[in-house]
Amino acid sequence: MAPPTPTGTETTETEALRALRRVFGYETFRDGQQEIIEHVVAGGDALVLMPTGGGKSLCYQIPSLVRPGTGVVVSPLIALMQDQVDALRALGVRAGFLNSTQDLDERRLVEAEFLAGELDLLYLAPERLRVAATVDLLDRGKVALFAIDEAHCVAQWGHDFRPDYLTLSGLHERWPDVPRIALTATATEATREEIATRLNLGGARRFVASFDRPNIQYRIEPKTDAKRQLLRFLREEHAGDAGIVYCLSRSSTEKYAAFLTENGVEAVPYHAGLDPQARAAHQSRFLREDGLVVVATIAFGMGIDKPDVRFVAHLDLPKSVEGYYQETGRAGRDGLPSTAWLAYGLNDVVNLRKMIDSSEGDAEHRRRLGRHLDAMLALCETVECRRSQLLNYFGQSAAERCGNCDTCLNPPETWDGTVPAQKVLSTIVRLDRERRQKFGAGHIVDILLGKKNAKVVQFDHESLSVFGIGSELREAEWRAVVRQLLAQGLATVESTYGSLVLTPASAEVLRGDRKVMLRRQPERAAPARSSAKERRAPVELPAELAPVFELLRAWRGATAKEQGVPAYVIFHDATLREIATVRPSSLAELGAISGIGENKLAKYGEQVLAVLADA
Ligand code: ADP
Ligand code: ZN
Repeated sequence: MAPPTPTGTETTETEALRALRRVFGYETFRDGQQEIIEHVVAGGDALVLMPTGGGKSLCYQIPSLVRPGTGVVVSPLIALMQDQVDALRALGVRAGFLNSTQDLDERRLVEAEFLAGELDLLYLAPERLRVAATVDLLDRGKVALFAIDEAHCVAQWGHDFRPDYLTLSGLHERWPDVPRIALTATATEATREEIATRLNLGGARRFVASFDRPNIQYRIEPKTDAKRQLLRFLREEHAGDAGIVYCLSRSSTEKYAAFLTENGVEAVPYHAGLDPQARAAHQSRFLREDGLVVVATIAFGMGIDKPDVRFVAHLDLPKSVEGYYQETGRAGRDGLPSTAWLAYGLNDVVNLRKMIDSSEGDAEHRRRLGRHLDAMLALCETVECRRSQLLNYFGQSAAERCGNCDTCLNPPETWDGTVPAQKVLSTIVRLDRERRQKFGAGHIVDILLGKKNAKVVQFDHESLSVFGIGSELREAEWRAVVRQLLAQGLATVESTYGSLVLTPASAEVLRGDRKVMLRRQPERAAPARSSAKERRAPVELPAELAPVFELLRAWRGATAKEQGVPAYVIFHDATLREIATVRPSSLAELGAISGIGENKLAKYGEQVLAVLADA
């Protein structure tokens, strides 16, 4: 016979579930949420690893509602705190924030609310905790828990490192009885350990969710003409959709945003060098408008919880798989079909290798960067399922074929490229005699194809025995060979001049002791979605329901504008879709729909019913 459930657990369970239903309007917990919530409510420390869109916020929001006192959320996302707090207030949760954007009066008001026990949640920028006055404030009030959001910001070699996060290791000493929950979507073993160590969370229970995001289609293709490829991708698959395009440099974000706008796709740039007002305005437009494209450096995106980002495109090779997964994860938080599309080329590889070699930090740091890049390249050049490779990278097992990535949809062939590889490497050997010159990939391909470019003439490379021995492949194919040699570590980039040079492994290939298998790009990258209909309407809806849905959407748009909040703060698309399908005729029926909690029902219920009655 099973032992009876201890009453404490039972209370927690029902209390948490009640909050989920009453406040958030959701019927059941998602995978993992309940366990985490119960653990934290009971006072335990937790380290939570869940992909973007997995539902991390509830894991600290509900314990903050259930435990006595205020949940203090440390977050680096100052520019988003207002929106986060607005969204919670729309649910009837008493939330506030303290950061540098507020004036003294605003701050005082929030502090007073906290001290009076009138806040369920208080968002804080990490630098606030370095200020004695803040620590003192927290001491005088009652803290229910500390949530450390975006916990990977403490990882020193990570892509989002924030020095202020290091001070968070002291939370436990200062408030030994307050549970801490650290959350991140970054999940490699190394980062995990670093987070646990630096945040002093060695004893915390770890919760690792599945990192799969099945609604995101992963696609990677060689970059031939980035502008044309991007435009085609947007026009054919994501016309009118909101999305993010990532570039490496500030200037290219501006260039591509202008290019897209000229071509009828509304786009704005975003990077750290933009003046703060323009930056905030662009972010706010992205959150509030339908179908805007942001062309950004990686400075953009962390914490953006817009649920209907339909695509994330990369025009430059990301520096690590972790960064790539984090960025692509911003697509499709609402669970509807979305695309992660990356175009990368030979120059990306060369530039990144050079950048690593000339980067600051010690040799170990450079080696680490090199390993990150290698893993990214391996993902790009794989003939296996991209998703299974991604999940394996994060230490999770996966089905061999996912059926929703380019290599599954349109499997590439492999071919024996040993002879072409030998030709490239032989050319490198011959050019190696003139080390103090930059002989890049383009020059090597020109030599193989027997092209008399200016450099060929200047250095008399026509006389090399390899000149013109490569007529069996076209230029793009030779570039693909060179790219893959770099990806496989069979050639590399010399740091001073940027020439291609051999690696220890090259010799085996030259001697004929090692076969080189290469990937042949399918003629055309996988056509994304099966039908145009599916593409046009991410909110799949029978035709007869579309007019009602549109009316609801118009009402939502007007309401959001009136309140100065993003439309999804009122209701998500998925909620509107369910309303249109169910057509509730009473408040009770409306309240049963997912995403409609007590507060929203009271606030908008009558209005929604009126819209439905008019329809
Ligand atoms: P994360 O912070 O992990 O990226 P969020 O906390 O923003 O994810 O949640 C992603 C989306 O899933 C949000 O729109 C949220 O409202 C929704 N969600 C979370 N938990 C549930 C649940 N139990 N049932 C239904 N929807 C949920
Ligand atoms: Zn796949």
